[in-house]
Amino acid sequence: MARLKVLISGAGIAGCTLAYWLARNGHSATVVERSGSLSSSGSPVGVRGPAADVAERMNIATRLREASIRVAGMTFLDSAGRRVARVDLETLRSSIAPKDIELARGDLARILHEASANDAEYIFEDSIRTLTQDDMGVDVVFENSRARRFDLVIGADGLHSIVRRLAFGADAEFVRHAGLYVATLPLPSNAGAGREMFMLNTPGKLAALHPSRAIPVAFFVFWHPEIPEFDYTDLDLHKALLEKEFAGIGWRVPEFLDAVRAANDIYFDSVARVDVADWARGRIALLGDASSCVSLFGDGSTLAIAGAYQLATTLTESPTDPRGAFRRYQAVHGKLVASKQKNLARVASRIVPKTETGIWLSTRVFWRTMEALGTAVRMGRKLRRQ
Ligand SMILES: Cc1cc2nc3c(=O)[nH]c(=O)nc-3n(C[C@H](O)[C@H](O)[C@H](O)COP(=O)(O)OP(=O)(O)OC[C@H]3O[C@@H](n4cnc5c(N)ncnc54)[C@H](O)[C@@H]3O)c2cc1C
Repeated sequence: MARLKVLISGAGIAGCTLAYWLARNGHSATVVERSGSLSSSGSPVGVRGPAADVAERMNIATRLREASIRVAGMTFLDSAGRRVARVDLETLRSSIAPKDIELARGDLARILHEASANDAEYIFEDSIRTLTQDDMGVDVVFENSRARRFDLVIGADGLHSIVRRLAFGADAEFVRHAGLYVATLPLPSNAGAGREMFMLNTPGKLAALHPSRAIPVAFFVFWHPEIPEFDYTDLDLHKALLEKEFAGIGWRVPEFLDAVRAANDIYFDSVARVDVADWARGRIALLGDASSCVSLFGDGSTLAIAGAYQLATTLTESPTDPRGAFRRYQAVHGKLVASKQKNLARVASRIVPKTETGIWLSTRVFWRTMEALGTAVRMGRKLRRQ
């Protein structure tokens, strides 16, 4: 089998998974990551369905489970902090999706990196400056490292992908603001959430407390028109926006805003849809959020892992025909992405309703139905045991 020399931009969820599978299939994988480490203020993300199967095949499912958060339930609060509904996630998960795992993004990235670190080359604190391709390969100039040539280049560098910008076009062509912004940040370890997630809605805004093993996470989502020239790295702008949007809200929100003021690392971004019609241009292809972001509530990680596995599989099936492999990868994985992208607007308006009526309907009707479903599952189990 021909051995491919592949450069992956981004040591995130997609990049590390792809590096693992390329190396395991006998190819050479080099990963270039802009940050100096894999540290992350990210909130919990899910490894679900097809991604959970991939994790089993990578022999990391046990480690992921050991790091999992095992959220017991989701409690919905009114603006005074009183409980309105609760969904028993533990019961639902064990009956509907027993293999699904939820863990901190940083833990997932670390475990995926460790799984591939011995067999792939990692270059930290660097980024691609230029890409020039011909029929046989791609010449890459880096910001810091010496220039090199690869057979293929994969952009697994997230929503703001440099590979997409260099080889496909400007962000404005592909990135669509979905109407919301999201922020997460770690709280002091004594902020305590146990194993329960708490969610408080006011029209157009959600403030939540998410358990995350030792360090609980504050989670903010709000509807906001697109901010022109929005800079996802501008911490002062993020702090000012959160102060403005969440001022005057009760429960523990003032405490979360204290943490915002003191923070030097907040994950803050636009909730966006990335639509790239063709995920490959010659010998350069996109993966994960770079090709098809559905960022909200953690599904992006599942798609990133499943997509990386699919891409490594098709490249290994036909290493001498990467263009054909890229087409098959998109044909298969694109179906999974489309189903998630379709749900984004519905999920967003259910989790962050824009009106008091929407909140009422969401918590009293939808979440109480889920609550009843959990009770029915528990009762069914009890009856079966008798
Ligand atoms: C620090 C961080 C925190 C996050 N927190 C959350 C969260 O709280 N909630 C949520 O829903 N989603 C979060 N996400 C996004 C979520 O991880 C992704 O939606 C999902 O995992 C898809 O994975 P991905 O590998 O495609 O992209 P990502 O996981 O975003 O990984 C992309 C990687 O590429 C790197 N990168 C970016 N630009 C360059 C460049 N120019 N050169 C080299 N490397 C580059 C990034 O540093 C990152 O390591 C976070 C992402 C990051 C990077």
